[in-house]
Amino acid sequence: MTNEFDLIVIGGGPGGYVAAIRAAQLGMKTACVEMRGSLGGTCLNVGCIPSKALLESSHHYEEAQTHFAAHGIKAQVALDLGTMMARKDKVVLDLTKGVEGLFKKNKVTYIKGKGAIKSINSGAGEVIVDGKETLKTKNILIATGSDVMNLPGVTIDEKKIVSSTGALMLDKVPEQLVVVGGGYIGLEMGSVWKRLGAKVTVVEFLDRIVPGMDGEVGKQFQRILEKQGFEFKLGMKVVAADSKGKGVILTLEPAKGGEKQTLNADVVLVAIGRKAYSEGLGLENVGIKLDERGRVPVKHFETSVKGIYAIGDVIAGPMLAHKAEDEGMAVAEIMAGQKGHVNYDAIPGVVYTHPEVASVGKTEEEVKAAGVEYKVGKFPFMANSRARASGDTEGFVKIIADAKSDRVLGVHIIGPDAGTMIAEAVLAMEYGASSEDIARTCHAHPTLNEAVKEAALAVSGRAVHI
Ligand SMILES: Cc1cc2nc3c(=O)[nH]c(=O)nc-3n(C[C@H](O)[C@H](O)[C@H](O)COP(=O)(O)OP(=O)(O)OC[C@H]3O[C@@H](n4cnc5c(N)ncnc54)[C@H](O)[C@@H]3O)c2cc1C
Repeated sequence: MTNEFDLIVIGGGPGGYVAAIRAAQLGMKTACVEMRGSLGGTCLNVGCIPSKALLESSHHYEEAQTHFAAHGIKAQVALDLGTMMARKDKVVLDLTKGVEGLFKKNKVTYIKGKGAIKSINSGAGEVIVDGKETLKTKNILIATGSDVMNLPGVTIDEKKIVSSTGALMLDKVPEQLVVVGGGYIGLEMGSVWKRLGAKVTVVEFLDRIVPGMDGEVGKQFQRILEKQGFEFKLGMKVVAADSKGKGVILTLEPAKGGEKQTLNADVVLVAIGRKAYSEGLGLENVGIKLDERGRVPVKHFETSVKGIYAIGDVIAGPMLAHKAEDEGMAVAEIMAGQKGHVNYDAIPGVVYTHPEVASVGKTEEEVKAAGVEYKVGKFPFMANSRARASGDTEGFVKIIADAKSDRVLGVHIIGPDAGTMIAEAVLAMEYGASSEDIARTCHAHPTLNEAVKEAALAVSGRAVHI
């Protein structure tokens, strides 16, 4: 029978498609149901990839305008937004087609449509696609991801008031962009449009940006963005938006209460977070109840119903593509009787602005609150020869280590290519390294990563180049 499977994955994002491929590699007859019309989920279609394509293009534009001269290069540059957007679309198309190719190679059946769980009982389950076709399966994996979170009083029209999806497709550079939310998505998309010429104001409910990141890094990050021209309105909330006229008039109110004020924008980006998505999935048919934040509760990726698993943005944990992918690998291995596992203490987080901000493990605030005795080693990129050679010297590496055991507890980097550099710290933490281990590891010269080694040396007060 062609419509009987060992595993049906619902959702073809980085969690779902990786799980489907790994399950097929492990010998399971696997299908993946995806309703978007293309594979890759939020990440490839409207998230990580298109945003990074635009960040890269806009960075080149800004570099050519403002930094080439210092390198002795004279250039006259002009923006061709249409070509920039077309390039981004092609990157997305190529990668989503690439996932289809991987499905073919691994013999995963790709089914287009909306999947809903009808039933499951002792390894005999049914998934209905678009309310018509019924597929039989032994196991079901929910990998339905997340969706944009709405702000009360502000209706997204994807033209003047946009979500991150609309912000990836504007057909002209807004004069004034207001970003609601000082998290990584808002700051990345704000950077794109600021580099292309928009005046950007970020309104954030809390009194700091990138909440959850190390406080010292957050402060430095804000200072750098302000130097770039970002304006921040912290401790403010948006309570209403009027988009009847040419632009949008936002009404703001201090988060702690107080006098209202208005703010005009050509475009407003609502980037206050994302929520787990499980609409129309038929969870009620099998008795799965969502938690208080609308997520599917799991234990070792299995839901309260035997044979139904869930991973990625739809379950608890950081909403990140690599977290979803690792869970996809782990759950497939668990289903195949292996010991799949994800180390949640070593999941990196990166903001792909310029400079980038990357972190893994505990922040200084967290170790302090936990009453752990700790030491900090810091090293600025100003003192790193490679950063000096490329003229990209803002930021620092900060390593937090246990004062007694010297085990690395957290690494926080703000600086050029921090997102690539953090991999070294993630690997170190995965292996339970001490700061001494990093300090004694030979680092190629001249590289940005030497700043990580120097920060590790600085934990015990013996950095050399400062
Ligand atoms: C603008 C933006 C930038 C981002 N940048 C980064 C980044 O740089 N790095 C990073 O790690 N993360 C980033 N993320 C987050 C990342 O995209 C998500 O964490 C990741 O995509 C989650 O993967 P997932 O597989 O759990 O879900 P998703 O990628 O959301 O995929 C779920 C898929 O399931 C499908 N689906 C849902 N319900 C059904 C159904 N009933 N039937 C069939 N199909 C269904 C959806 O259409 C979707 O394609 C970004 C997100 C955004 C919005």
